[in-house]
Amino acid sequence: MKKEFKQVCKINDDRLSSYTKRTRNGRKQVFYTGNDSRDWERYRADGGGSQHNVTMHDKKCTIIIEPPEKHYFAELIDGDWWWVNGCAECIGNPRDWMTYVECTEHDVCRTCKTPRGEIKDSVWGGKYGWQCESCKDKAHEKAKKEALDSVAEKEYNEIDYYSNSEIICPYCDSKISSDDFHESDSIECEVCDNTLDVEVEHTVSYTTSKKD
Ligand SMILES: [Zn+2]
Ligand SMILES: [Zn+2]
Ligand SMILES: [Zn+2]
Repeated sequence: MKKEFKQVCKINDDRLSSYTKRTRNGRKQVFYTGNDSRDWERYRADGGGSQHNVTMHDKKCTIIIEPPEKHYFAELIDGDWWWVNGCAECIGNPRDWMTYVECTEHDVCRTCKTPRGEIKDSVWGGKYGWQCESCKDKAHEKAKKEALDSVAEKEYNEIDYYSNSEIICPYCDSKISSDDFHESDSIECEVCDNTLDVEVEHTVSYTTSKKD
């Protein structure tokens, strides 16, 4: 089984001895000891009170603790609360879409390695970690050039794009996802940025069965 965290140290807080549940509100760890499971479930769904939509019936049942490091979170292990490291690379796992638990060292653009703290713009999440805007643009331009180069020699023939089982870009031959695409429309090819018209044809079939 893939490890999800690495034990760092026990949480040194005597108050936690009777607490068995915790959720997160951003980085904050919210512990709960009450018995009202419906109250707890609503609170959890509310992001540990971050939306302020839920009032706990018994506020005394919760304790909020900030982790000592941004990539730590609390886990109950054999009856004790531990700070655990949730950074994928620290544990030896590949990076994934989830970036908010990465440690400072590993919270970098997957391509140019610029630390998150040095980037003011928003960044683009990805399967293998996030990428900064300029690396994303460069990767896009490279893929676009490759796709357009690959069709440059080919003679354009309308028939190649007629009634296919997939949406094929007539400019660069890239396949475009047809998920959530049901009606004829104009769309932009994500690879070459050209706009194309897509005509959807539904085939009709008939099923018959005996009446009795
Ligand atoms: Zn790390
Ligand atoms: Zn970058
Ligand atoms: Zn295209």
